[in-house]
Amino acid sequence: MNKDLIELDGAEGGGQILRSALSLSMITGKALRIVNIRGRRSRPGLLRQHLTAVRAAAEISGAAVDGAELGSRSLTFRPGAIHGGDYRFTIGSAGSAVLVLQTLLPALLFADAPSRLAISGGTHNPLAPPADFIERSWLPLLRRMGAHVDFELLRHGFMPAGGGELAVRVQPGELQPLHLMEVGPERSRSARVLLTGVPGHVAEREMERVRRHKGWSTASTKVVRLPEDQGPGNALLLDIECEHLTLVFCAFGQPGISAERVADQALRQADAWRGSGTAVDEHLADQLLLPMALAGGGSFTTPLLSDHLRCNRAVIEAFLPVRIHCQPTTADGQHIAITPA
Ligand code: AMP
Repeated sequence: MNKDLIELDGAEGGGQILRSALSLSMITGKALRIVNIRGRRSRPGLLRQHLTAVRAAAEISGAAVDGAELGSRSLTFRPGAIHGGDYRFTIGSAGSAVLVLQTLLPALLFADAPSRLAISGGTHNPLAPPADFIERSWLPLLRRMGAHVDFELLRHGFMPAGGGELAVRVQPGELQPLHLMEVGPERSRSARVLLTGVPGHVAEREMERVRRHKGWSTASTKVVRLPEDQGPGNALLLDIECEHLTLVFCAFGQPGISAERVADQALRQADAWRGSGTAVDEHLADQLLLPMALAGGGSFTTPLLSDHLRCNRAVIEAFLPVRIHCQPTTADGQHIAITPA
């Protein structure tokens, strides 16, 4: 087997395997061959967001790529050196700009110079981290690990119109291990509704549902009315700020789904995390594994060993000399620890 070529089967996972594999291929310099990309998803293969991530990764690392086409189910990626610089990437659909950023950011921390990124596409997509989550939950933790990253949401992009825009600056530098075994005392809760091209009563009903929910009656609330040309769109974001980290939960308005159900979706996620007694919610766990592995260490508790976490663990262990240990905790959750192999 060629040790400088990492071969992965993407059948069991989604785009996460591809994104983590691209980041790690660039950082380690090891070539990547991935087959059955998003094999069991309803629209398998590379969608626009994934293709943009592949092309963007190829641009910043001067990679030679085979299979970078819409719908492609296999890809070979042979990276060169990662170069910092000014980059602009356009997804051309409402595909998540945040997920493209997730692919590039770890690599740009290892670049030879600082970078400025402009990425356009969706910024608030179901099944992807919303920009608010990156800004208030994930990036503060990455900064605590030593990363110098500025993030600005210039324009919101919702499904199906897209058209959002992120501006990000990344300073190369080393990451330090981080341990998140508990969140510390809770400081505040807040609820924010983003709204454009949707009647105002939708925001009022979402807020009312939140205020009536146990634990949320004293939360601060804010309705953000966005310009009509950034819509239509409706997102409810629930923040729980604790001493050691902030959790951000979200749900999206959709035709045929009542405002009350949208609020319940976000509240259920917040309740499930709080009830688990763990530090890091399911999605944040997905986003922390790679930076911790790059730092050579870290640990956290999280409610469950999700498919994303399992896939991410396998990809990371294929590229890096680390072991990711997952142990059930005495309470209802998992203890994840990353150590040198
Ligand atoms: P995939 O389904 O493989 O394309 O991966 C989707 C990624 O988006 C995973 O890293 C998820 O953890 C992340 N994600 C999905 N929904 C949310 C959410 N509400 N907040 C934060 N991250 C999310």
